[in-house]
Amino acid sequence: MKKVLLVLMLIFLTGFNAVFADAGWENPKSIRTYIEPNDKKMMMKQAFAKWTQLTNGKIVFKYVTSPDDAQIKVKFVKDASKDMKNLEQAIGVTHATFAVLPSRKVVLNTATIEIADHAPGSTGKLMLKDRIFRVMVHEIGHAIGFLGTHAHSSDRQSIMFPAAVSRNQDVTQNDLNFLAKLYGW
Ligand SMILES: [Zn+2]
Repeated sequence: MKKVLLVLMLIFLTGFNAVFADAGWENPKSIRTYIEPNDKKMMMKQAFAKWTQLTNGKIVFKYVTSPDDAQIKVKFVKDASKDMKNLEQAIGVTHATFAVLPSRKVVLNTATIEIADHAPGSTGKLMLKDRIFRVMVHEIGHAIGFLGTHAHSSDRQSIMFPAAVSRNQDVTQNDLNFLAKLYGW
């Protein structure tokens, strides 16, 4: 009975992501993560490690060998899809689903990150590595709780700014403060 209810709630919530904007992982110190085999897999792992390092080990990704066991899945696509708009969005996109705990707290249930090799409309032009890395860090930001009304920063120095405006964009103290508030650190 409980299981049926949870499944129903998931279907309901998935269509209303924006309503439940502030949701983190229930166990942020052990988020089961799967990265598809790809020549950028190591770079992706470095991007995950960056968030672990910056949160002083409060967010940890535990790699699993099967996508079926994963909470966060990373897929690589050859070309950016048409629904990837603007920056990130030219190179990456993240979809999240939510679940409701018995305590009625809303938490992240799954997150799927797609990273593209090529920018849209650029006739197959390969992306620069450091730009792809920044998009990876940005997309992981979404996958750990930068969602809904808090999806993007208005600070142009932040990695969570919705466009690539500078090579110096990085995770800012404000970004970390948001996570601290979200997870109650
Ligand atoms: Zn974004």
